[in-house]
Amino acid sequence: MSLSGVEPAAGRGSDVEIAALSLILMHGPVSRTDLAARLSLSPSTMTRAVKPLLDRELVHETADSFEGPGRPSRPLVGTPGRRRYIGAKLTGEQVFAVATDMLANEVASTTRELASHEPRAVADAVADTVRELAGRHGLDGVGVALGGSTVDGRSIDRAPFLGWRDVPLADLLEERVDAPVIIDNDLAALTAGEHWFGLGRGLRDFAVVTIGAGIGLGLVHDDTVVRTRDVGLGPAGHIPVEPFGARCSLGHRGCASAVIAIPALEAQASVALHRPVRFEELLEWARVGDPACVDIVNTAARATGRLVALVANLAMVEVVVLSGEGLALLDVAEPQMREQLAADRDPEAHELDIRLDRGGFPLWARGAATIAIQSSLRRLLTEPASSPD
Ligand SMILES: [Zn+2]
Repeated sequence: MSLSGVEPAAGRGSDVEIAALSLILMHGPVSRTDLAARLSLSPSTMTRAVKPLLDRELVHETADSFEGPGRPSRPLVGTPGRRRYIGAKLTGEQVFAVATDMLANEVASTTRELASHEPRAVADAVADTVRELAGRHGLDGVGVALGGSTVDGRSIDRAPFLGWRDVPLADLLEERVDAPVIIDNDLAALTAGEHWFGLGRGLRDFAVVTIGAGIGLGLVHDDTVVRTRDVGLGPAGHIPVEPFGARCSLGHRGCASAVIAIPALEAQASVALHRPVRFEELLEWARVGDPACVDIVNTAARATGRLVALVANLAMVEVVVLSGEGLALLDVAEPQMREQLAADRDPEAHELDIRLDRGGFPLWARGAATIAIQSSLRRLLTEPASSPD
């Protein structure tokens, strides 16, 4: 993030204040000197930009002051505060929602099953979770994440698993709840959550690979989550990783979704054992040495290593965060993943920093809360400066 050119004004809710607040939330503790350098601002403009953030208790000075070059500096860090956000993750079956503070720390969660995919019925279910979690507390924002695409953060252009095209979901929700709503692709939201409040905190560039009902790829480049029009299609799920692997529904042999995704592994295990086998059971059988289950799990782990190597080689990142419910695969077969990863990297390349986020399914909802937090910053700085209570 940079604000180049003429020194911008630091008025209330200005771009300078938003940029400073964003940097403190995603990289804090961070000194004013550091902030000024990153934003190419003079120390005096920086001081003016930070003051309203302190006044509004959005950030605070850390106790441990240190002598910087020149004068003492107290690094700034985000304040969890009393502000409340809801992050909701929509699947084809349910809505899972968390209430968080301003640093996306979960304070409560709830679930509703979806009775139908009719947009109004889905909006009712999401609104139900919001009302339950909000209680009598005022809300500062609601974020909804789903496997689909949106251009403006308000309408869903396409969400295949709900059979939706052009659904004004934010409008439907704002008719039902008393808070601003923002919508995002679930992978972009999860990546934003890792970037600001998760294992990618403090990094300007990294990739996220999710293993779950599908395979997802998220990318942060220069402190920004990369978003494309096709993000809702999950293109990374169709990267070939196993020449002799099974086929996906699009006919690709051995693509990531056919070899690593949970439904694919369950299908393979069910064929091998001649009965329906769930993912957890597959891992259990692999752990105790069932030959078919061991082979399915090891193949998936090697394919994961190949996928991670491809991502790092092509996206030129040095950190990859692995996330999703399917990560349990690595409890059984992490060495196989690491072995393939090493084989597919140049031996002289920097060793990849692989970070396993075992937060599981709730991470999707934390991502949704993160985009609600991000989209509320200007509002927080322009609303009347009264106590939230
Ligand atoms: Zn495919």
